[in-house]
Amino acid sequence: MTQATPDFIPPAKPIIGDEERAAVDRVLQSGMVAQGPEVAAFEAEFADVLVAGRPCVAVNSGTSGLHLGLLAAGIGPGDEVIVPAFTFAATGNAVRLTGATPVFADIDLDTYCLEPASVEALVTDRTKAIMPVHLYGHPAPMDELGRIAETHGLMVFEDAAQAHGAAWNGRPVGTFGAFGMFSLYPTKNMTSGEGGMVSVDSEAMGRGVRLLRNQGMERQYENEVVGFNNRMTDLHAAIGRVQLTKVGAWTRQRQENAAFLDAGLRGVTTPVVREGAVHVYHQYTVRLSEDLAGARGAILDRLKNEFGVGTGVYYPIPTNELPSFQQPADLPHTKIAAATVFSLPVHPSLTREDLERIVDGVNTVVGEARA
Ligand SMILES: *Cc1c(COP(=O)(O)O)cnc(C)c1O
Repeated sequence: MTQATPDFIPPAKPIIGDEERAAVDRVLQSGMVAQGPEVAAFEAEFADVLVAGRPCVAVNSGTSGLHLGLLAAGIGPGDEVIVPAFTFAATGNAVRLTGATPVFADIDLDTYCLEPASVEALVTDRTKAIMPVHLYGHPAPMDELGRIAETHGLMVFEDAAQAHGAAWNGRPVGTFGAFGMFSLYPTKNMTSGEGGMVSVDSEAMGRGVRLLRNQGMERQYENEVVGFNNRMTDLHAAIGRVQLTKVGAWTRQRQENAAFLDAGLRGVTTPVVREGAVHVYHQYTVRLSEDLAGARGAILDRLKNEFGVGTGVYYPIPTNELPSFQQPADLPHTKIAAATVFSLPVHPSLTREDLERIVDGVNTVVGEARA
């Protein structure tokens, strides 16, 4: 970078303030830092604020949440779970780790979420569940997916890792399926440091996840099932409780930032918000025309070097094509998205000047690439 480069605008910026530090200090001073009263309070508060009071179980990561939820639902070898390939690998990993087979469906190119017709075409007599991802913070089409699940007797598990506060027809994500998982990784819309929250539709599901996160024990040394240590600590829960009081305002700021970008950007396909959807813009993801796919790397380099605009590509390789999966599948929309998307900063710390610079950078660099 040359000296004339403007201050770098990072693609994501976790906000951790004095209140979070004070909360951690309070727990440290108590001398009890493992899973305890802070985790219990965080679960209850998360339920109230984000999932309309559905019971919640905290775990040490979003990935563990998916994994334990699947196991608690009885998913295992011989079962198939339909998932998108256009997502973070954790979605498919969680299915694979149970011994079940992830079956990869295509996405809708407007919202980058599962395309119901593609899902329905993949249902077999081994299919046990559909796991939609509310990608970038836009809800998957839960009514159509719910109908498919009902028709074929399938469970629904929501990967809401990126979608705290998103909603579909007035109902928050995480309240549609047998379970919904929220990640609390630092770059997500709210964080606990590392962590995950699972909202559940039944006491049996909740108990299953609670047992699996703690060595299969409800009462000490009376292990009922073989489990993990996937507990959240009170230190992390204390951070998450503070963040929970702020996530609503942060979401509104993300939505305002997105509206500014929507109005200003030229030459790229900006995010579509379906009627009835509340988009919480974990990512603000745009798409280049396909003829510019080969220029994406150079475009993002120019945005960084000349305009100081950080970007990310989520996700350049569909899960089914990763070395860890290698499951050939015909997913034309997934291929297009993987080759053409990139995400711009939309986080709540952006200033008006930052947003103007992002718009100016994209319009200049993409405009020149198209010329
Ligand atoms: C972040 C993420 C996960 C995993 O969450 P971790 O807390 O990082 O384990 C799973 N699915 C999606 C779509 C994610 O973005």
